[in-house]
Amino acid sequence: VETNAQLIARREQAVPRGVASAAPIYAKYAENAELWDVDGNRYIDFVGGIGVLNTGHRHPKVIAAAKAQEDQYTHTSFQVVPYAPYIELAEKLNALAPGDAPKKTLLVTTGAEAVENAVKIARAATGRPGVIAFTGGYHGRTLLTLGMTGKISPYKKDVGPFPSDIFRAPFPSPRDGITVEDAITGLKNLFLTDAQPERVAAIIIEPVLGEGGYTPVPFEMMHQLREICDQHGIMLIADEVQAGFGRTGKWFAIEHSGVTPDLITVAKSMAGGYPLAGVIGRADVMDAMIPGGLGGTYGGNPVACAAALAAIEAIEEEGLLQRSLDMGEHLKARFAEIGARSAPFRMWDIRGLGAMVAVEFVTDFDTATPDGDFTKRVIAHALKRGLLLLSCGMQGNAVRVMVPLTASDEIIEEGLGIFEAAVAAAVA
Ligand code: PMP
Repeated sequence: VETNAQLIARREQAVPRGVASAAPIYAKYAENAELWDVDGNRYIDFVGGIGVLNTGHRHPKVIAAAKAQEDQYTHTSFQVVPYAPYIELAEKLNALAPGDAPKKTLLVTTGAEAVENAVKIARAATGRPGVIAFTGGYHGRTLLTLGMTGKISPYKKDVGPFPSDIFRAPFPSPRDGITVEDAITGLKNLFLTDAQPERVAAIIIEPVLGEGGYTPVPFEMMHQLREICDQHGIMLIADEVQAGFGRTGKWFAIEHSGVTPDLITVAKSMAGGYPLAGVIGRADVMDAMIPGGLGGTYGGNPVACAAALAAIEAIEEEGLLQRSLDMGEHLKARFAEIGARSAPFRMWDIRGLGAMVAVEFVTDFDTATPDGDFTKRVIAHALKRGLLLLSCGMQGNAVRVMVPLTASDEIIEEGLGIFEAAVAAAVA
């Protein structure tokens, strides 16, 4: 049996350093919101494989569905011999997505691929090239999506040039003093300076900024984006890769605002731990590309589709949307207590939507200077004490919660206890 130390040494020789790992441990076994490493240490998992496990590690229904599918066929390529689970999942997603218009769904494998395809579809549907994304947005690491991802280090460092006709508008950020009005003015200025609106195919936005810091888009902003898109014939794409499937207490985070997007990108928690992603959209828009224009060898893998159908059923049967709303309220209240007690004037902001919650650390309340080093120490102390955490934010100074919605109150409380101890240790 290999130890963490042995695997760390082997990895250094075998895997490029560009693939960084947040925790210097190696997984052995995981169940619901707990994970054990190869040295036998137990961790409470507040990360869920980066927001993939809203239904927890190895949800029994998900595993049973995947195993049953494995006994029939695991791959035929939907473009050669199609299969029912793809259709069934597409129907389910079309029904879940907001808006009254008929919908269609394309399935692919990764979030970045979903975003790439949403852009292709929007371009084909509008006959226009331009794409507008936002400061701090994260849409993936492929070259087109990197052009849209709004953060240089580490993602974009040294790998340009990026595709043309991608523009950036300001994200409304209380931390940076950017109001909704400022953000909309920035977008309108962009139309005057760089992005001719009749040449813009899509505006893409995360309804809750994910990697960029778990900042919800104010509903008013979302409504204004919808209006601007309608006015200029631009497609509104909601990137729900991280916020979707119950994380915020709705199937899709944009539903909180009441705005209907033209296209939605999905991945992560849709399939409960299997690689699957998709684009859901208005049927007329989705049909813009000619036959053969969409797809990929593995797109909509049948085992992943079966897992997704089971994960969606688990979210429905176990009331996980309501669970997310309740958990979010509880987390926010507990974080406020912990901040006041164990890190006075360090925990500057507690924010989020449903259980998509983050806490932001600063050097002090007077200057509110982001403190990425403090955040790193909190995460390291938490790991030592048996809690997996991940940062987010442009300055890496926020800790985000992506704990399975299936986690028990006891496990959440145990995790919060470790979090408090880690914060106290980071202050000391
Ligand atoms: N969009 C958003 C909002 C994301 O959070 C992510 C992944 N963190 C992606 C796209 C890219 O997904 P993937 O890593 O599966 O390519």
